[in-house]
Amino acid sequence: MVNDDPPFSDAVYFPNEDDASRVPCISNHQKKLNQWNRWSTEVIPSLVPLWRAYLRKTSNLRIPALPKNTEGSECFCDSGGRSLHVTCILFDRVEQIVLRTCACASAPSQLMAMGLFGCAPIAPSLAVDLRLLQFVKTLFVCLTLNTTAWCEALAVFLQERGYGLTTQDNLRRRFSNTYHLYIVLVMHNKELVSGIINASSSCHERETSDGEEEEGGAHEDTKDP
Ligand SMILES: [Zn+2]
Repeated sequence: MVNDDPPFSDAVYFPNEDDASRVPCISNHQKKLNQWNRWSTEVIPSLVPLWRAYLRKTSNLRIPALPKNTEGSECFCDSGGRSLHVTCILFDRVEQIVLRTCACASAPSQLMAMGLFGCAPIAPSLAVDLRLLQFVKTLFVCLTLNTTAWCEALAVFLQERGYGLTTQDNLRRRFSNTYHLYIVLVMHNKELVSGIINASSSCHERETSDGEEEEGGAHEDTKDP
């Protein structure tokens, strides 16, 4: 397998610039901060409705993830697309796919529609099955969180099935990123849901109390998955 994995911090991608014009002088730390900001303020909030839709469509992840190539499905928008090679870690196997991404079809949204979650917001080189992430999340409720041991076991299991991975460290780092971001997605969704519940209960209080004024939160017609 080709090891063309960019470091977590280098996955930041500016759609209208050449690779050569990536700002070389910003520090690694700054890049990580930029990427984290991008995840938490843009990507995760935009993924929450897609995640909910996917949960509904698959009866709460009952149906397995379905990785597929999207290269060839060209878009003619002027954002300048790119092809991405993504290693998909599923429950029982590893699959390689090629994604065609652009401003109207981002990598995270395409991956989410397939039941996968990427390790980076713009150019993920690894994506993990949402069912696997949910399983790990469930497991870590019962056990001490230990992604190192978990990744070693996963790598050995997959290697014994004939799915070679680059290095265990590589898988560990990218899997940990993915898992961490998945937890952020889950928490973001929870916050939204409790916001809705609080808003509706304060609405109810308003209706039952006599003309007392209260601040209400955002309204959205969604249910807790
Ligand atoms: Zn496009």
